[in-house]
Amino acid sequence: MNAYLFPPAPQPTLAVKGEEAAYPVRRIFCVGRNYAAHAAEMGVAVDREAPFYFTKSPHAVMESGGAMPYPPGTENFHFEMELVVALGGPAFRVSADQAMSAVYAFGCGLDMTRRDLQLKAREKQRPWDLGKDFEQSAVLAPMTRAAEVAALGSQRIWLTVNGETKQDAHLSDLIHSVPEIIADLSKFYHLDAGDIIMTGTPAGVGPVQPGDVIEGGIDGLENVSLSIGEPA
Ligand code: MN
Repeated sequence: MNAYLFPPAPQPTLAVKGEEAAYPVRRIFCVGRNYAAHAAEMGVAVDREAPFYFTKSPHAVMESGGAMPYPPGTENFHFEMELVVALGGPAFRVSADQAMSAVYAFGCGLDMTRRDLQLKAREKQRPWDLGKDFEQSAVLAPMTRAAEVAALGSQRIWLTVNGETKQDAHLSDLIHSVPEIIADLSKFYHLDAGDIIMTGTPAGVGPVQPGDVIEGGIDGLENVSLSIGEPA
């Protein structure tokens, strides 16, 4: 029996270093304003009480190393370099102490952003979706299993455009730590394997143009890269 009216879109996936099988992406949660210097450059106060979130469709996933066309509807297309956390099991109402047992892998990712649309939405107190959730807006490098990654903290997180350093910080600069984020999100969602979290970007975000090449890294993880093409 043909159960679908048309073929369903392919399951979005991530590569995992050393694994033949792909990691199927279920949901993408993103943390806003999780580095103080970035909140300052965005002209907003940091909320240290609790993180806040937006989401991207799993179908926004793009594999690192490719080229994406300059997206439609924007004249201010920004990079945001981020630590990505991929969950491998359930987490619901977990404490920060319990949270890391749900983590399967870490990776580098780019939260590509139509900044003009995001800021317009922010001004009007509207949702950020047009600015944040669009095709190829979640660029993800191959993940590294958590067991192979040193305790998070001192790692440098950086991004270059055409070889010029734009973002340069440390994971210890995160306002809400990875276990705190998982514990908080798990108050609102039955988190599970396939859910990934983009943990926020350090200061130094900025625009890219067709022809630009972005490279980003975090100590101990696979680099993420992206080329910007002409508008499709
Ligand atoms: Mn971001």
